Amino acid sequence: MITERLRKEAVFSELAREIGAGRVSNAYLFAGEDKATGEAMMTEVSAALLCPERGCGVCRVCKAVFAGSHPDVHIFNRTKKMSVSDAESLISEAQKSGWQSQRRLFEIFNAEKLTPEVQNKLLKVMEEPPAGAVILMCAAHESALLATVRSRVKLIRLPLWKTGDVVDELKERGVPDGVARVAAKLSGGSFSLALDYAEEEGLEEEYAEVFSMLTGCKNSRDIASYLYSGMFTSAKIGRILDFTEIILRDVLIMKAGADVEKYTYNRDYDLGKIGDGFTAGGAAMALLRVNALRSMLEVNISAETVGEKMLFDILEAKYKWRQS
Ligand SMILES: [Zn+2]
Repeated sequence: MITERLRKEAVFSELAREIGAGRVSNAYLFAGEDKATGEAMMTEVSAALLCPERGCGVCRVCKAVFAGSHPDVHIFNRTKKMSVSDAESLISEAQKSGWQSQRRLFEIFNAEKLTPEVQNKLLKVMEEPPAGAVILMCAAHESALLATVRSRVKLIRLPLWKTGDVVDELKERGVPDGVARVAAKLSGGSFSLALDYAEEEGLEEEYAEVFSMLTGCKNSRDIASYLYSGMFTSAKIGRILDFTEIILRDVLIMKAGADVEKYTYNRDYDLGKIGDGFTAGGAAMALLRVNALRSMLEVNISAETVGEKMLFDILEAKYKWRQS
């Protein structure tokens, strides 16, 4: 589970140690591109602040915090956008005493989306914090917050995950191995993004389509049939480039005989077919060419044109870099 992985991270254990020693800030900002990690961190820290065992994870207090039902934990901006009046009610709640503990916690989700008006209201509590009130925020980027707010919070930057950790996490949630590996690679270490990919309809089919295109396209005469198959649409082209890069990378690993883990899973037979005729240098060149095509997407060149150039470039790299 993501919380268990998080507990092993230095960033968490250091903060837990500080809290255990009684050094508690009145406002925290957990910043990191992976939404799931930020939210898990915020909940874990809330539990550590309220649980008599500093976040044991199993007691009644911890369970209530994880379930979002602890009376002294107030949640904002998760399902409903936080308004100025929500910020005002946070301020008045912060002055009161806790129901079950000495503390009142205020968890603010998606803090990068808070309006400047709301942030300015929150500054009031941050400048004169009532005893026992702690504000916890998570945001994709700290730069989205006002400098005045940033200067009042303890900023904790959260790391992205290693591809292997994302794969394991997805598999624990029932995502099949092949999809998990591809989604993890595409996510660049963000678990939330990986989960979005894994749950996206048609991801596995598209991945298979790209494999069959790369195995089937053997010379320039073959290009047209793939080009007009309908797979190169503006919605799909970005992911076709992603998949092609993942596959060519593994072809390169195979050709170079490198001892590096492949991103594709159970596809060695197809990789062999795609790699047939490639030298390692040719595969590397093809990979670079495909990567360079991304800039074409930014200038609104049609998906079919990009697709045609991609297939042509791959074939050219294959033939040009052949050993003589
Ligand atoms: Zn506990």
